[in-house]
Parts: sequence; structure tokens; C-alpha cells
Amino acid sequence: MDLREEYENGKENSDDVGKHEFFMKQALLMGERALEVGETPVGCVLVLDGKIIGSGMNDTNRSMNGTRHAEFLAIEEALQTYPQSIFSKVDLYVTVEPCVMCASLLRQYRIRQVYFGCANDRFGGNGSVLSLHSDSSVDPPYPAHQGIFPKEAIMLLRRFYIQENTNAPNPRPKRNRELNMDFSDEG
Ligand SMILES: [Zn+2]
Repeated sequence: MDLREEYENGKENSDDVGKHEFFMKQALLMGERALEVGETPVGCVLVLDGKIIGSGMNDTNRSMNGTRHAEFLAIEEALQTYPQSIFSKVDLYVTVEPCVMCASLLRQYRIRQVYFGCANDRFGGNGSVLSLHSDSSVDPPYPAHQGIFPKEAIMLLRRFYIQENTNAPNPRPKRNRELNMDFSDEG
């Protein structure tokens, strides 16, 4: 579902738009922090009743653990304070469409809704590659909305790949790259 169409069709009132944009900006700030430390710049926040209860950014390079995606870190933070059952009242704002792994995790945690910036054409689990949010499964589905600040999310990724190409004396082999998304055909 593309949130831009929802805006245009008037399904989203302006308060909601402001709220979505506010939380996506916080997710983008997490992505900026990831970029500063050389991680693939994806950031997210978990929101309960208008309050951020967890935030995360990619941490796969530092930890050398390919499962340390932003969503996992945000969930870990929230679980320090809240029980797992809280996630049925929690919304996720993430700059890039959750990957297949995270999309499945979010479903198992029964996240209420997911809002993401840009699509993840190679690994996306919320419609791009697989539709783990909506297909029939053992866990309840969750709505996923696309299109809050997609250009900002893409620009973070572009800056990362430019920086990586400039800094690396010996470019890393492709297979070691996390979320190696190609946005070269994007406007
Ligand atoms: Zn992921």
C-alpha cells in the first residue's frame, strides 16, 4: 500500500501525516548515525501510544553479525521495558522496507503496523520480494505502508555506497555486503 495515495485520497488526516512524518524523521536520524559509523544506513523506531519505546540502526559490520538489523535492535530495546505482548499495540517506522528476515520477525512479534520509506527491491519482505506481512501464515498479518520520505531514505543509502567506494582501497566482494540495494535507476 502506498501511503502517498492514501494522503491524496484523504484517508489520512493531516494530524496522522504529521505524526508519521515525525516518527520517520526519527528513523532517518538513526540511519544518519549508522552512516556516520560505516553501517548500512537503515534506521527505525518503535512507537507505542505516540512514544518511542525502542530505536535501532544497522549494526552488522561492527558486530560482524548479519542478523543485527535495525529492527532487531529496536525490538531488543523495547523488550528491556515491555513484555512481548505489547507489540500488538506498537507501530514500526523504518527507513527501508523490512527484509525477509525482519518481516518474519515482526510478524512473529505481532507488530500492529509497519511504515517504511523506500522499497527494498532485493530483500524486501513487505511486498517487494515476498509479502510476509500479508500472506496466509500461522501468525496474524500486519498492514505495511510505504512512502514516507522515500527519497531521504534512498539518499542515505546512496551516500553510504559512494563513501564505501571512495574509502575502500580494496572494494569488498559483493557477497559480503549487507542490503546492497541498487537505486541507480531511481530519480
Ligand atoms: Zn532486516
